[in-house]
Amino acid sequence: MSATAGAELTAATLATHVDVLIVGAGISGIGSAYHLQEQCPGKSYVILEMKDTFGGTWETHKYPGVRSDSDLYTFGYRFKPWVGAPIASADEILKYMGEVIAENGIAPQIRYGHRITKATWDSKTNLWTIETSTRDGASHILTCNFLWMCQGYYDHEKPYMPDWAGMDKYKGLLVHAQLWDPKIDYTGKKILVIGSGATAATVIPAFAEKAAHVTMLQRSPTYFYCSENKNELADKLRAGGIDEPTIHRVVRAQIMHDQDVMTKRCIEEPDAVFEDLKALVRAFTGKEDFPFEPHFTPKYRPWQQRLAFCPEGDIFRAVVEGKVSAVTDELETFTEKGVRTKGGVEIEADIIVAATGFNLLMMGGIPFEVDGQPVDWHETINYRGMMFTGVPNMVWVMGYFRASWTLRVDMLGDFVCNLLNHMDEKGAKRVEVALRDEDAGMPLGDWIENDNFNPSYLMRGLKDLPKRGDKPEWRHNQDYWAERGEIPKTDLEGSEFLYDGVRAGKKVTEVA
Ligand SMILES: Cc1cc2nc3c(=O)[nH]c(=O)nc-3n(C[C@H](O)[C@H](O)[C@H](O)COP(=O)(O)OP(=O)(O)OC[C@H]3O[C@@H](n4cnc5c(N)ncnc54)[C@H](O)[C@@H]3O)c2cc1C
Repeated sequence: MSATAGAELTAATLATHVDVLIVGAGISGIGSAYHLQEQCPGKSYVILEMKDTFGGTWETHKYPGVRSDSDLYTFGYRFKPWVGAPIASADEILKYMGEVIAENGIAPQIRYGHRITKATWDSKTNLWTIETSTRDGASHILTCNFLWMCQGYYDHEKPYMPDWAGMDKYKGLLVHAQLWDPKIDYTGKKILVIGSGATAATVIPAFAEKAAHVTMLQRSPTYFYCSENKNELADKLRAGGIDEPTIHRVVRAQIMHDQDVMTKRCIEEPDAVFEDLKALVRAFTGKEDFPFEPHFTPKYRPWQQRLAFCPEGDIFRAVVEGKVSAVTDELETFTEKGVRTKGGVEIEADIIVAATGFNLLMMGGIPFEVDGQPVDWHETINYRGMMFTGVPNMVWVMGYFRASWTLRVDMLGDFVCNLLNHMDEKGAKRVEVALRDEDAGMPLGDWIENDNFNPSYLMRGLKDLPKRGDKPEWRHNQDYWAERGEIPKTDLEGSEFLYDGVRAGKKVTEVA
């Protein structure tokens, strides 16, 4: 069966009602569909995707060198072995996802080109009504019992582009990395990349291969983790004739253990971690006196923002070879030929690439209503980063920032399927979460603590995100190693769950 866009019109794709509606055919939506098929085989479902093909993030981004910065042994699903080098290009990830779709017969369940424009819950019928629009301007309506939100966390169409002074003066080409067109020829050009996060870390060495010179302009430096793009354990096991599912399982376990150790070290001994990161740079560049001040000494703790992966130390090698240079300063204004910084540095460029990140987009920008009332996500409280007070029959897939996103896709896949099966056993049509007696007076805060993880798009978007409590049930703690012990053991009869409006657990009390 083909995994490509334009799935045939099957009973599933023509349905007007399904048990479960999955929003988005990115890595979360496809993984969730797999788990639903496997663990709730009787449920009908459809995936609605606004693009004309699957892939989400890996289809949106087309800049040179676009790749994962997680290893694919953990970014890949737990059920489909990854057999390549740990860091993968977008094309390799799309191929892997295509195989998952084809091998599991998911294609007929995907309706491409359907943008969801509204989601309305009605407590009289216990149904969601989902409105979609297609490119020809037609609108469609579908109902479902349960909504599985896999729409990602950022606006795929409008990236974050600051409103810099003098942008209209610039005579060269200004493009945001998220909107990069692969047809742009940058051979022999002077390129300025504004930003220093994971995107900049990817695109800068890729540009450096053909460009005349690449300058990285950053407000503040980033931590880089240099490593070879190979996994010795995987290579050894493969050479020993071990089967791929076993290699996948063992290597995942090893990587997760190493990441756990690394995360703890980042918190407990950040200075020692930084010394280790510097030693890797020296090893890959062969330069004992590589200058880390001022451009490569961050102001925050490693892991407070994503550590940018740097295969074979590529960006540092390009710096040593003179192909890349860094400027750490604030942009004051665009000029005809480039930009000028507040410190008075003039940078000339034929092409300026803004690697300035995303606009966070809550629920894919879909307006939600529950019983005629618009949902303001900021007024809801988030249950373990997946359900919301006052919003029934819905789960939101928000992965990890510090560990591979997909680890949570698999974990929540199990959770949602357990929940759906539990509802069937109880004969319940509706599930929601609500604060318990012991949560009375619980202090509520922003969805994520600034001290935990604080990239700009999240800080800008906090006003759109739900609230967090101070107990494990009411926060997304971004800690895979804690959650993997907690979420699979969730007591679905815990008193934070309400089924058909009745609180679960021993104290059976009607809620108003
Ligand atoms: C360049 C880049 C590299 C990254 N690298 C890593 C990495 O190495 N490791 C890691 O863990 N994370 C990484 N991330 C984070 C990454 O976004 C996630 O890991 C993951 O790919 C997100 O998958 P998703 O399916 O949840 O969301 P997305 O990939 O965002 O897919 C969501 C899908 O939902 C669709 N959709 C949204 N709104 C609607 C709507 N209203 N109607 C219909 N369809 C809709 C979108 O079109 C899209 O196809 C990276 C992010 C970027 C941008």
